[in-house]
Amino acid sequence: MKLPKSLEHFSQKHNFTWDANANLLYGSWQGYYFTIVQNPSGRPTHTIMLSVGQPDGRPSPALSAILGNLQPDYKYLTDFSTDGYQVKASFQCRFAPQVKTYIQQMEEFIDALCMSLQSANLVNCCQKCGSPEGVSSCLANSNPLLLCQNCREIATQQIAQKAGEMKKRRGNFLSGAVGAILGSLLGVAAWVLVYRLGYIAAIVGLIMIVCTFKGFSLFGGKLNLPGILFCTVLSAAMLYVGEQVAIAWEIYDIFRTDFSVTFFQAYQSIPTFMEYDAFRRAVIADMAYGYLFMAAGGFSVIWSTYKQHNVPPTLQVLESVTPAPSDPTLSTENTGQQ
Ligand SMILES: [Zn+2]
Repeated sequence: MKLPKSLEHFSQKHNFTWDANANLLYGSWQGYYFTIVQNPSGRPTHTIMLSVGQPDGRPSPALSAILGNLQPDYKYLTDFSTDGYQVKASFQCRFAPQVKTYIQQMEEFIDALCMSLQSANLVNCCQKCGSPEGVSSCLANSNPLLLCQNCREIATQQIAQKAGEMKKRRGNFLSGAVGAILGSLLGVAAWVLVYRLGYIAAIVGLIMIVCTFKGFSLFGGKLNLPGILFCTVLSAAMLYVGEQVAIAWEIYDIFRTDFSVTFFQAYQSIPTFMEYDAFRRAVIADMAYGYLFMAAGGFSVIWSTYKQHNVPPTLQVLESVTPAPSDPTLSTENTGQQ
């Protein structure tokens, strides 16, 4: 997204960089490196992140207390957490007219935080091992991280390994298909149940497609193009099955006492009932809404499952935060402190 207007001034004043894909601002402020994540909805909700430690690479025991002391002064600071070296502070503004004060307060908070960090003699460091040297800001699958060179290399190796495994993984279409069928049957059951309870079953269209895709991947199918096609067609067909079972059951309920029809006979009589306008229209509306819900939610379900199976994770370096050690023997100092 575009840099929100409320942050424009803020960003210019401190010379921060805006990453439009990851929705974050980053840069140095009074010697500390900040990453500010903007809520993707565009609402004034931000997570301020930094990673600091003692100059010798140890974590600071005072970090949590520093944040705790600041919190009462900032009403928009709704939450904070510290984990080893990493600090996360959440800012949230509920009402639009307050945005200006909100941004101002966020700025004041960062100023005050920098001052406290300076008096505690803390420095920017790697959020994994605490090394203050050779730290860069990175994006791991659009999650911001501050990592030293050593930890970056480890992360890159892990990613390469994962990508290799992903490529090797063939998946078994047949067992995946069995899983998809089982999943879609759950969807059919949900459709019939919701229908029986007297609600509009359309929302189950979404549940149907989720169950089918989940079933496919849980049973070992690799979600490639044939897998996606199979699951999509199956979900659509099973929605039809669900509707047929639901209306057969309704016919059966109405006629079983007076005409002693069996469930199967009720099912067979569906075409006769479909000749009645009102009946046909109700069935078509049920199905149409069901497919609408399926299509509306289906795209994100398919995309997220596809990504999980086919898109390897990435590590992208944004910029250098602290200089690399000048003495090459220092660079191995923090090895093994993971
Ligand atoms: Zn590190």
